[in-house]
Formats: sequence, structure tokens, C-alpha cells
Amino acid sequence: MRKKIIGIILLVLIVFGGYKLFANVSANNVNSNSIQFSYEDIPAYNGDNPYVVVNDNKPYFTSSEIVKDSYIKYGPLDSIKRVTSAMACLDYDSMPSEDDKKGESKSICPTGWNNIKYDSIAGDGYCQSRAQSIAWCFGGSDTDKKNYITATPYMKNYMNAYVVKIARYLEKTSNHVMYRTTPVFVGEELMCRGVLMEAYSVEDSGEGICFNIFLYNVQPGINYIYSTGESEYTGEFLDMAAQMKDSSMDFNYILNSKTMTFHKPECEKASRIGTKNKIYSYAEREELIGAGYTAAECCNP
Ligand SMILES: [Zn+2]
Repeated sequence: MRKKIIGIILLVLIVFGGYKLFANVSANNVNSNSIQFSYEDIPAYNGDNPYVVVNDNKPYFTSSEIVKDSYIKYGPLDSIKRVTSAMACLDYDSMPSEDDKKGESKSICPTGWNNIKYDSIAGDGYCQSRAQSIAWCFGGSDTDKKNYITATPYMKNYMNAYVVKIARYLEKTSNHVMYRTTPVFVGEELMCRGVLMEAYSVEDSGEGICFNIFLYNVQPGINYIYSTGESEYTGEFLDMAAQMKDSSMDFNYILNSKTMTFHKPECEKASRIGTKNKIYSYAEREELIGAGYTAAECCNP
């Protein structure tokens, strides 16, 4: 009798839960049970939208996952050493107060790492970069392999825009933010198709921060072979600066009050300024220079 009941329960689960089980398998590294996400439901990248909103912008956190004690947890690498979900409860105290000069670990090469230079890519020209699942400014590790994804510079910029949005919220309040990033791989591919990014501010029930987005791991002008991370120039190049205009950063510059320099909002070095020295500025370039600041050499704002 007991076996029969278990059998019926299993059958019901398979019939009604089948689609979701399949959905999780299709994004086969999604290791958190609360994520109901299928890569097949995501529209193909259409050339101008760096991300799409998922699940009406509501994160998948369950009520028991929403807590007020800060922590960071990296999911284990999967059977072919790919990064899985990283989850955290963030607060101001977990953010480094001092500047970081050493930067991310260049010796870590995440799966799909096949980095080459193209003349058409702005900045240093490389078509891949290391994106951190939990950013350094949230207290994320610079040395843990489980914290690094092979990202396009384009996706990394947009991930960073959302990281800055959360960082500003944490710096303004003493609230917590639930945060999870999940690289989404198709089949056995080594370079992810994108990253699912979820965030939810706890004390104000999502009033300050609440989003659920899928960022495409693409680079205008470059085609990637996601199974290996190899790439080729497509011959068409879209202006990256124009693409960045809709980013969620509404301020003009990030200042370092210790070194008296100002940076572009998306600057990599600026993302390593400690909370003690960081200022988001709406001032114009001339005003900053008048106030004794100099343009940082790294991003030449
Ligand atoms: Zn800079």
C-alpha cells in the first residue's frame, strides 16, 4: 500500500513537475531548487538589448532563503568543472573599506577561456574577461575558482552596472540584499550563454532593490563558439559607447577621495575602490578638476 502511494505521488510529480524538472536540466548547472528557469524560454539576442527581464523581474528566492545574516556561498564546480550558482546575503559590513590594488586573479582560467585580441574591441581589445559571480566590492573572493566566469567584456560591463546599483543601496542603508548569480550553460558547452542575476532587498521587501535578469554573454561584432570559447570577428561592429547609454548608472563619475582621481562609472579599477574612499559624483569634468581631482589614467574619463 505504501509503495503504491509513493508510486502515485511520483507519477503526479513526473506528470505535473516534468516540465520544470526538464527546464532545470536544460540549464543543467542551475543547482538551486528554487530557480524555475529555462534557457529555451529566453529570446535570442537581438543585437541591441544586453539583457532581458525574467519572471516579471521577480527573483526566485523562497521565503526561507531570504535572511538577514550576511554570508557568501559558492556552488560547487560541476562534473566538467563549470561554475554553478553563487548565493549571498549582502550588507555594508561585508564590503571592503580599503582600496584593492592587486585586482582579480589572472592565473584563474574559467571553462571556455580562449582569449584573443581584436582591433574592434574597445579597451584592451581582448574578447574575454573574468567576471566574478560575487564581486570583490561585495566581499567576493579573488582567488576562488568557483567565483569566476568566462565573460565577454560587454556582459561584464552590464553585470557591473547592476553590481554598482546594489553597492550604492548597501552604502546608503544598513539593509541586506539577497543576491544570486547563475551562469547558464547549454549541454556540455564550456562558455556560458549568459548569467541569471537576481537581487532582493530584505528589510524593505524589495522596494530598494528587486530584479531578475538574464544577461547575454555576447560581444557586438564577435561570434563565439560556446562549446570551446573560440571566437571570430563577424565584420560588423556596433559602437559600444552608444550601447552603454541605457545602463542603470545615473551618476557621471566614481571618485577616489584618497588618490583624488575620477573614473568612468564602468571602470574596472573604480570597482576596486573601498567604501571609505568611494564617491559617486554627478559633477561635470571641469568642476572635478577645479576641485583638485585628476582624470584617472586607467579609463581616461
Ligand atoms: Zn578608471
